[in-house]
Formats: sequence, C-alpha cells, structure tokens
Amino acid sequence: YGKENRRGHTTIFSGQHESRIREFGSVEQALRQADLEKEMVLHYQPIVDVRTREIRAYEALARWHSPVLGDVAPNLFIRVAEKSDLIHQVTAVLLGKALAYMTQRDRRIHVSFNLSARDIASPEAVEKIRETVRKSRVDAGRLTFEITETAVVQDFEQGRAALSELKALGAKISLDDFGTGYSSLHYIHQLPLNNVKVDRSFVEHIAQDTAAQGIVRSIVELCRNLGLTCVIEGVETDEQVAVLQRLGCTFMQGYHFGKPAPFETVQSQQFRNATAAITGTQTTSGIA
Ligand code: C2E
Ligand code: MG
Ligand code: MG
Ligand code: MG
Repeated sequence: YGKENRRGHTTIFSGQHESRIREFGSVEQALRQADLEKEMVLHYQPIVDVRTREIRAYEALARWHSPVLGDVAPNLFIRVAEKSDLIHQVTAVLLGKALAYMTQRDRRIHVSFNLSARDIASPEAVEKIRETVRKSRVDAGRLTFEITETAVVQDFEQGRAALSELKALGAKISLDDFGTGYSSLHYIHQLPLNNVKVDRSFVEHIAQDTAAQGIVRSIVELCRNLGLTCVIEGVETDEQVAVLQRLGCTFMQGYHFGKPAPFETVQSQQFRNATAAITGTQTTSGIA
C-alpha cells in the first residue's frame, strides 16, 4: 500500500494504489499501537508579515513516523485518527509538545496549532485542552488555535461554545482553509474569531486568475471590516507575493517563505528567498 523511499521507509499517501479501506485499516491499527510521544513530532512553518518580513508565528504541523509504516502523510493519519476518540490522544500529545517547546526552547515564539473538528465537538476534549494550556504556564496569548469550518458545522452551538472557551484562555482563534467549506460568511460573523486563513487553492493561479484575485481582494476587505487578520496560505512564488500584496494581503505562509521543518532547522534552512530581510526579526506578537 505504500512506496519505498530512499531511506527504505514506506510512505503512504491517501488514495494511492490499493484499497482505501485496507489503507485506513492498517493506518488505524498502527496508530492504535503507536507510542505517540515517541513517534509523533511537530514541524513548524513560518507565517510572515510581508510588510516588514517579520515572522509573526509558526504553524505547528504534525508528522508521524511509524516504525511499521514509515512516514505517514498528516492528511491521512489525522483523518484516520478523527474516526474515533484516538484524535484526542493525538491532539493531547502534540499540544504537549508544542507547549513544551514554547516554554523550554524559545520564550518568544507564537505558535498556531491545529485542532480537529472532533476535538471541538467534545466538551471533555476542550476542557482537557484548556487544562493542558493552563498547567503549561505558557502565556496563551502566544497561542492560536486553527479550526476549520467543518469543526463547527455539525453542532454550531457546541462549536461556538468551544471556541469561546478556548478564547477565554487568552488564545486566539483562526478559521483554517477558508473558502473551501460551507456558507463561510455566516461562520465568520457568528464565531469568536481573530484570524482567517485563506486556503491555498485560491493562490495557486492567482497571478493569471482575475476571478481568484477578486475573491481574495473581497476576503481581505471583509476581514478588515470585521477586525480580523487574514493569512494567505500556500504562497510559493515571488509573483504570487507581488499580486497578493497588491490585493492588500499582509500575512502570508507558504514554501516561498519556508517549508515546515523541525524547529531546530527552521531558522537555518528557511527563507532562501527572503533571508536578508527576515534574519533576526522574530517578534513576540501574535498574528492577530
Ligand atoms: P493545514 O492546516 O491547512 O496546513 C497547511 C498545509 O499546507 C500543510 O500540509 C503544509 O505543509 C502545506 N503547505 C504549506 N505551504 C505550502 C505551499 O506553499 N505549497 C503547498 N503545496 N503546500 C503548502 P501538511 O503538513 O501535509 O498538513 C495537512 C493538513 O493536515 C493540515 O492542513 C491540517 O488540516 C492537518 N494537520 C496537520 N497537523 C495537524 C495537527 O497537529 N492536528 C490536526 N488536527 N490536524 C493537523
Ligand atoms: Mg492549519
Ligand atoms: Mg490551512
Ligand atoms: Mg489547507
């Protein structure tokens, strides 16, 4: 069900080759047996203020290296974990790592952490998240929780309550993959948000696609009117940066600025395209 990579590990991508069901089954089995503390790590990807080229935050992205399956794509193992309460354990382990990182390694960085729809749907899971943050003694103002619209669409009242409780910690709330989901304006209006992340599907052809430009311009304008910050995901080229800046975009994330990487290597490896401007300009402030 996988493909050998150079290190001789198997890499699994969703929907590849064999039956999705078998793939799901084996991933679930491996996940249930996994030592999550040991096998899961977070990679970090910078979110940059293009006006100053400062890094405003790092998004924490889960990586799982299974001794059985090799590297498993996050989209796949998160989806598998979300089929059951297993996701709560995954979230707990990863949040613990992010917070530990924030206390032990660098007192200034702001981290944007992805929560699953299933986490949001569970009052117990939300309470556990709150407790973990409180016990860590990390200033929650340095933490943003990213959630997708799907996280709130099924039980809106519970979703809204969960976000309010997370926000009450002092954390910021970001609506992820914006524009790919449901009737987005309703959620933007009704939820206690600080930030919106525009899905990278709008960015891919932004340089040529005037319709996409119009959409992004409108989202930026909407965010400005509602007092929300707006991050554009998946920015890969100089040309995209230039077009997006003309459309009013300020915060960007994508391979152009840096790929997700272990934190130790983030600072040394990244910003091939913006090194001079960015070096040494980490800030204490959040993205909101
Ligand atoms: P996401 O939260 O929308 O994260 C952004 C994804 O886009 C990441 O994929 C990132 O590596 C990728 N990306 C960033 N910049 C670029 C770019 O310039 N070009 C392209 N082509 N891709 C870019 P990744 O790391 O594979 O994660 C996929 C999804 O898995 C995430 O999407 C998120 O929904 C989920 N995920 C990742 N980590 C976690 C986690 O800790 N918890 C939960 N619940 N979900 C997670
Ligand atoms: Mg995200
Ligand atoms: Mg995203
Ligand atoms: Mg996305």
